[in-house]
Amino acid sequence: MVDTFLIENEVNIRLTAFFGVFALIALWEVLSPRRVLTMSKVVRWSNNLGLVFLNSIILRLLFPAAAVGVAVLAAERSWGLFNQYELPLMASAILSVILLDMVIYFQHVMVHAVPVLWRLHRVHHADPDYDVTTGARFHPLEIILSMLIKFVTIILLGPPVIAVIIFEVLLNATAMFNHGNIRLPLPVDRILRWVVVTPDMHRVHHSVEDDEANSNYGFNLPWWDRLFGTYRDQPRKGHEAMSIGIHHYHDVKQVIWISGLLTLPFVGRITEYAINRRNWNDKDHE
Ligand SMILES: [Zn+2]
Ligand SMILES: [Zn+2]
Repeated sequence: MVDTFLIENEVNIRLTAFFGVFALIALWEVLSPRRVLTMSKVVRWSNNLGLVFLNSIILRLLFPAAAVGVAVLAAERSWGLFNQYELPLMASAILSVILLDMVIYFQHVMVHAVPVLWRLHRVHHADPDYDVTTGARFHPLEIILSMLIKFVTIILLGPPVIAVIIFEVLLNATAMFNHGNIRLPLPVDRILRWVVVTPDMHRVHHSVEDDEANSNYGFNLPWWDRLFGTYRDQPRKGHEAMSIGIHHYHDVKQVIWISGLLTLPFVGRITEYAINRRNWNDKDHE
């Protein structure tokens, strides 16, 4: 059965897709870069990829069965919507991928809004450059939180196992694509961003400007930002001149070195970024 093959080879499928897409985007970045990087790639990449490697070990140790394992369990126990109300496989698979993506969107909005979660998510945003390695650079605690949210979603939704595998591979691939420092012809970008989050669309989200960073939360499907009002077309200064990162976070030891990335959630102030720290009465904003 296709399902059994996929489940048994799930880790290999995910790893092959990861390395394949990574190599492709990395090559594309060399051939046709969008911006000039501000930092040494060797130093940034070894730290970013070191964090990715650490995260994958932590995930394997904590959740060896991963999201797919939870989907198999939910199917066996008839947990969740689609295990209770049976739809044709194609319909439940497509709906599941779309709904899982919507949950990731709301999770992303949440980690920006809630101060303590923004502390974790800052690790992703503090990268002073924006390229394929930024796409996988998350604090281990945020990775664990994401996994737990995914588990709960799968238990409630009961998606077909194949949908979870497709979703994992797709999200991973699109995250690397849309963090790519790659140049797409503008007309192509314009068409593409109706179906997938493009590099130019997600780069806006990595701006140091608070209002731009509070836009374009989607990682995969671009519809949620348009539907829920968080869509922003382009950065004010344009893609070449815009600043990437977080205001006041420029110390290389803190925003590049892996030791700094791991401790980043526990240092510094939240400033005005998070939802309850904003200066609502500021006359300048009226
Ligand atoms: Zn973000
Ligand atoms: Zn990002």
